[in-house]
Amino acid sequence: MNWKKLIPWGICGCLLLSGCGQRLPVQENTNTERHEATTFAMDTIMTFAIYHDDGEELLIDTEQEIRRLEQMLSVTVEDSEINQLNENAGKEPVKLSEDTMALLEAGKELGKETEHCFDIAISPVVKAWGFTEEEKHVPSQEELERLLPLTHLEDLVIDGTDSTAYLQKEGMAVDLGGIAKGYASDSVTALLKGKGVESAMLSLGGNISAIGHKPDGEKWKVAVANPLDDNGYVGLVQVSDCNVVTSGGYQRYFEENGKTYHHIINPATGYPADNGLLSVTILCKSGTKADALSTALFVMGLERAEEYWKNHTDFEAIFITEKGEVIATEGIAESFTLENDDFAYSVVKRG
Ligand code: AMP
Ligand code: MG
Repeated sequence: MNWKKLIPWGICGCLLLSGCGQRLPVQENTNTERHEATTFAMDTIMTFAIYHDDGEELLIDTEQEIRRLEQMLSVTVEDSEINQLNENAGKEPVKLSEDTMALLEAGKELGKETEHCFDIAISPVVKAWGFTEEEKHVPSQEELERLLPLTHLEDLVIDGTDSTAYLQKEGMAVDLGGIAKGYASDSVTALLKGKGVESAMLSLGGNISAIGHKPDGEKWKVAVANPLDDNGYVGLVQVSDCNVVTSGGYQRYFEENGKTYHHIINPATGYPADNGLLSVTILCKSGTKADALSTALFVMGLERAEEYWKNHTDFEAIFITEKGEVIATEGIAESFTLENDDFAYSVVKRG
């Protein structure tokens, strides 16, 4: 994992949450206490801030819920359900829990909706690039051509009545790295709301879930990272009851022969998406969808992503391009303020 690239967005994404030396007074006009914890799970740093009298207990519940999901969904947990599914590729269907089934179904559906730009079966290609290993490298064209037929979502057969899933071809494997944190955000958000929490901020490795408003009644402010500056941000977006998720090539990458290769793969080519975007931030009520769409729209590139947004009403987006543009969709434009003069700002409209 590239800590150098991961941590700044973790910090930046929750700049106004955890402070990191810049804590803002977020407790005005309230007696509700802030309870905060940081942990490492799902291969990333997570920070939870909960405003509730039972905050300490709720922090424990939050961490337990994350660990429960991690045990099922992570490929780094040896006998996780996803590893069992992958090990039985080409052999037999595997019985799965409700959560794993729900996430596979959501992943497959979002794969179809995004015309295969989002692909939870991309794992063989991600592995070929070494993104799951210490040593990363550019795979040969032959290897990619051999592996790409193993990434087709039609070959992931999900049987809801039986609670089973089956990868039909040997060598197939599922990788939930592009969606699992979003799903975990949704689970924890539902859990906390069910226990009466009206104000909380979760950061799962930069996947932000803002629950309710800040205790002072204001909206939460979330920083959108500057892909060109580890510690900087391009602007602030004000949200309540919303997930804010960013995907970008700057988050995890390596260099070979002077060229940079990042971790978000275009399933059409097997190569890292390379279409002029530096990052895509999605704002959506559903964390699962926000997570999948940030990855998918990054793969699509600006033009196609804008078109996709125009045809959907359940999310907003902020695109940052290699040309130094920040482009917000009109539904979020009023809540976004650009804070960095190096970028040119514009708004994309439906009409
Ligand atoms: P994210 O940071 O949410 O954009 O997810 C990126 C991670 O998802 C990568 O590290 C891979 O594990 C996986 N991934 C890479 N490319 C894709 C893709 N096209 N669709 C789904 N998951 C992907
Ligand atoms: Mg994602």
